[in-house]
Amino acid sequence: MDLVLAIDFDDDRGAVGIVDPSGAVLETEPFERGAGGDIVDALDDALAQVWGRATRLDGAVVACGVATELAHDVARVAEVRDVVGRVTPVPLFTDTPGRAYALAEGWVGAAKGVDHYAVLDVGATVRGGIVLDGRLLDGGSGKSGGLGHVIVVPDGRRCTCGAKGCLQAEVSVPAIESRSGRPLNEPSYEVMQHVGALVGIALASVANLLDVRLLVCGGRVAREYASTMFLAAQSELDARCRLTFSRGARVVLGRTTETPGLVGAAAVGLRGLSRSGVV
Ligand SMILES: [Zn+2]
Repeated sequence: MDLVLAIDFDDDRGAVGIVDPSGAVLETEPFERGAGGDIVDALDDALAQVWGRATRLDGAVVACGVATELAHDVARVAEVRDVVGRVTPVPLFTDTPGRAYALAEGWVGAAKGVDHYAVLDVGATVRGGIVLDGRLLDGGSGKSGGLGHVIVVPDGRRCTCGAKGCLQAEVSVPAIESRSGRPLNEPSYEVMQHVGALVGIALASVANLLDVRLLVCGGRVAREYASTMFLAAQSELDARCRLTFSRGARVVLGRTTETPGLVGAAAVGLRGLSRSGVV
């Protein structure tokens, strides 16, 4: 059985694990950056533990997949490569969390068996990924899928990217908490509806632009606001997707509970392996 070593991390925390060909996570070890420490050092320790347990599994690790916002940071990726290379020589592939999430939902989630879809992960940041013709869209620099920066409010709130009114600037967890003055899990009905409407507006543009009718939305905000948010988003989709190919577009809750998590990271590894011609 071919297994994948999966690593998912941001600046402060992450997880390393082993994922099997069905997308099941067989081993997992979380890690966290200590005060003044470095996240890659924390990964090193967790990796040693998982690797020790992996030797007892029935199967061989054939690739390593890494999901991180640092996927395009050559120096940081080289550090990760060094750490992983000390335990296994398997090929290592990296991608960003939104794109890894798109692969995860297509592999074992709400888009399984679907060739054309987009995903949106609404949490501390807002990110996405696009799959067309059964393939994750790369774009000019391998970063396609920045749904968090679809403009939904002309002259809206300032986004971390520098523009105004991006979806991320309006519906990320910090944006919601700052605008409402309340924690994410104590929203008013109006806040949930407003967030859903903006998500729906962004997704309608995606559907009309890309000829996709399945929009998968996950992340902390989607899980917290659940049906209130999804009904508002669907209502916007119904009103704005009027082209013959986009009419009927629907937004559904993602089925992979982690975003992107180890399943997405493993999918990055498998995709890399398949594209590299090794298998
Ligand atoms: Zn932006």
